Amino acid sequence: MMNLSDQIKINAIIDNQEIPAKEYTEIRDPGKRSDIVGFVALGNKEDVDLAVQAAHRAFFSWRTVRVEERIERLLEAGELLKQSVTDLTYLMAREHGGLMREVKMDFMAGYSNFINYAQVVPAFLKPEQKEDVESWISIEKNPKGVVAAIVPWNMPVVLTMMKLVPALMTGNAIVVKPSPNAPLALTLLLKRMAAILPPGLINVVHGGDDVGKALTSHPLVRKVAFTGGCATGKEVNIRSAQSLKAVTLELGGNDPAIILEDANLEDMMPKILRAVFTRSGQVCYAIKRIYVQDTLFDAFIDDFCARVNQYIVGYGLDERSNIGPVNNERQYTFVQSLIEQARQSGAEVRELGIKLDPKNWENGYYILPHVVIDKEHCTDLVQCEQFGPVIPIIPFTTVDQAIALANDSDYGLAASIWSTDSEKAKTIAREMEAGLTFINTHGLGSTVFGMPFGGIKNSGIGREGSPLLTLSAYTDTHALRLLK
Ligand code: NAD
Repeated sequence: MMNLSDQIKINAIIDNQEIPAKEYTEIRDPGKRSDIVGFVALGNKEDVDLAVQAAHRAFFSWRTVRVEERIERLLEAGELLKQSVTDLTYLMAREHGGLMREVKMDFMAGYSNFINYAQVVPAFLKPEQKEDVESWISIEKNPKGVVAAIVPWNMPVVLTMMKLVPALMTGNAIVVKPSPNAPLALTLLLKRMAAILPPGLINVVHGGDDVGKALTSHPLVRKVAFTGGCATGKEVNIRSAQSLKAVTLELGGNDPAIILEDANLEDMMPKILRAVFTRSGQVCYAIKRIYVQDTLFDAFIDDFCARVNQYIVGYGLDERSNIGPVNNERQYTFVQSLIEQARQSGAEVRELGIKLDPKNWENGYYILPHVVIDKEHCTDLVQCEQFGPVIPIIPFTTVDQAIALANDSDYGLAASIWSTDSEKAKTIAREMEAGLTFINTHGLGSTVFGMPFGGIKNSGIGREGSPLLTLSAYTDTHALRLLK
C-alpha cells in the first residue's frame, strides 16, 4: 500500500512503453484538496497517432491468435486486475474521492467481465455454415480493428473493462483514454495488464477533449466506445461519423423511481437510499427523481429524511464515512447551483446528514445530502442530471400521471417501479421510456450479465454487458459463398 505522501507520475503507454510528456497535470485528492496524489501526462495528437498505429500493428497478429488462446491470456490479465485490489484501490479512492468499498466494487465489477465474456465469446465467434448441392456459405464474424475506449471518472475500472474485454476477446486492439479526473490507478492497472499481452494490444493516452477529438477522428480507429456526458457523447458521434466509425455511447441519465402506495416502505427504503446516494450520487443509473403516490407521500418523506439524516459525510478513506466528496470542482459547483435554484424556486429544501470532520470541510468537495420536496415541479433538478447527493421527491395521484412525469425527460437510461403488486408493476414498467426498468430495485448491483445495459433518447446508443449485442458491436459480419 502506498503512503499518503506518495505521489506518482503517469505516462502514456504505447507498445508497452511509457512515453514521457513535456507537461504533466497534477491530480489532487477531492477529499483533501491540499494533497497532490500524483501527476498525469498531458498528451497530444501525436501520442494518439502513435498509440493508434501501435494498436493497428498489434491487431493484425492478435486477430490470427486462436480465440481460446486469446481468452486464456485475457483471463490472466483479469487475474492481475483482481490482485490489484490490494494496492490500486487505495490510490483510486484518493484520486476520485470514493469510499473504499465503492472502489472495490468498481474493481470487482471490472473483473467479472473477464469471467462472463470468456464463457460466451467462443460460441459467438463460431462461423455459421450451410452447404447444399449448389454452394457453400459461411457467415463469419471478424474483429473491427482499433477500438478507442473513452471513459469517465465515476467508475473507471468497470467502465473500461466493459469495453476492453469484449473488444480484445473478439480480436481487436484498444487505445484507452481515461478521464483527467481519475487517470492514475486505471493507467497503472492497464500497464500491468498490457505487460503480459503482445505490445500494442492495450495502449493508454491521456489528456482532455483535444486528445478525445484526435481519437474520434483518427482514420484507423474503427470503433469508438464512449461513456460520459450527453453533450460530449453527441460531439463524439458527430466526429466519428466523418469516417463512419461504429459507436457505442453510454451517456447520462435522469432515472425516475415510481413508488406506488402499496410499496413496502421498510423493505424498499435501504435499497432506494443506496440507489440514490452510492458514490455520492455520481452513478449514471442512480435514482435521480423520486415520484411517490400522494397517499404515501408524507410517510415516505418522514422515513426517507430520518434515514438520510443519519448519513455521515467525510473523507472516502475514513471508514466512518457513508458519503464521500464529489469528484471535481465542476460537479461541486453544479450541484450547489441546483440546490440554490431549488431554494429560490420555493421548493422545500432539507439539508441533512452529519459532517464527519468539519475542520476539513472546506478542503474537499463535500456536500451534505439534500432532499428537495418539489410539489409544484418547479426545480431544475427534476429536468437535469444532478450527479450528486441531492434528490427531488415529487407527489403524484394517478398511475398515468406518474408515467407521464417519469417519461417527461430527454434522458432514458433506467427507471424503477416500487410496489408489492408484481403484475401492476410489470404493466407500468413496460410503459417506461428507458433502456432498463427495474421493479423493487435500482442502481449499482441491479443488473446482471446478459441484461443489455444502455439507454434510449439522450442516454445513448448501443448496449454493453450483452453477449449478443455487445459482441456484435465489436465485430463485422463477413459472409462467404462458394459456387460449386
Ligand atoms: P465527460 O463527458 O466530461 O467526459 C468523459 C470522457 O470524454 C473523458 O475521458 C473526457 O476527457 C472525454 N472527452 C471530453 N471531451 C471530449 C471530446 N470532445 N471528444 C472525445 N472525448 C472527450 O463525462 P464525465 O464528467 O467524465 O462523466 C460523467 C458523465 O458520464 C455523467 O453524465 C454520467 O451519467 C455519464 N456516465 C454514463 C454511464 C453509462 O453507462 N450510461 C456510466 C458512467 C457515467
